Amino acid sequence: MIGDRIRYITEKIDRAAVRSGRRLDDITLVAVSKTFPIEKIIDAYNSGLRIFGESRLQEAVGKIEHLKAFPDIKFHMIGHLQTNKIRMLKDYFSLIHSVDSVHLAKKMNDYFYSINRVQDMLIQVNLVNEPQKYGIKIEEFDEMMEKMKSFPNLRVRGLMFIPPFYDDPEMNRGNFRRMKVLFDETKKKYKEFKEFDILSMGMSDDFEIAIEEGANMVRIGSAIFGERV
Ligand SMILES: *Cc1c(COP(=O)(O)O)cnc(C)c1O
Repeated sequence: MIGDRIRYITEKIDRAAVRSGRRLDDITLVAVSKTFPIEKIIDAYNSGLRIFGESRLQEAVGKIEHLKAFPDIKFHMIGHLQTNKIRMLKDYFSLIHSVDSVHLAKKMNDYFYSINRVQDMLIQVNLVNEPQKYGIKIEEFDEMMEKMKSFPNLRVRGLMFIPPFYDDPEMNRGNFRRMKVLFDETKKKYKEFKEFDILSMGMSDDFEIAIEEGANMVRIGSAIFGERV
């Protein structure tokens, strides 16, 4: 059942990658397992998935501790982080998608320095200035990138974007395209971030469009695991 869904999605990712001149291997699938029980993660693991996305720290840490023995399993943090919870991060996450302010980045850098770890992370961008949404605003983006140069315990791997909600995902094609432009310009402008290579965008309803416009990492939950309860 879950295996069928994964195969179906993988084929769609493959075709969207080819449409944008790439291959399936160029796209990383993050299976968003937030709110779903551990058994579902194990099902997905047994169907070949290795990277899981969680958005609440407490929930994530419980699952990660439970699944420690699974070889190659990786977790990404995709949800908003509060500064008072940073010390729960430890070395649990191979990638944190949701660094959304200089203040948070500074606190994270201090923390990862204290545990002697360099943490891979993305900057979450609030491209269209949605007031209710987390992410760095476009006017503050360059200032943040400049500040990131002084945080040696954070390795800036790229950008993450959550688009505005529309019934028709085609409405976001232009926003995905603008994110790709921002990603390419940033990569060119900030050469000191040598491993700046991830553009995380695209969810269950819009991942094909996001890939066509240049995403190389997609975060898919309900299309794999079913509706969240
Ligand atoms: C929940 C979530 C997703 C997955 O959403 P689906 O619509 O279930 O695919 C992706 N990214 C983030 C940041 C999320 O919080």
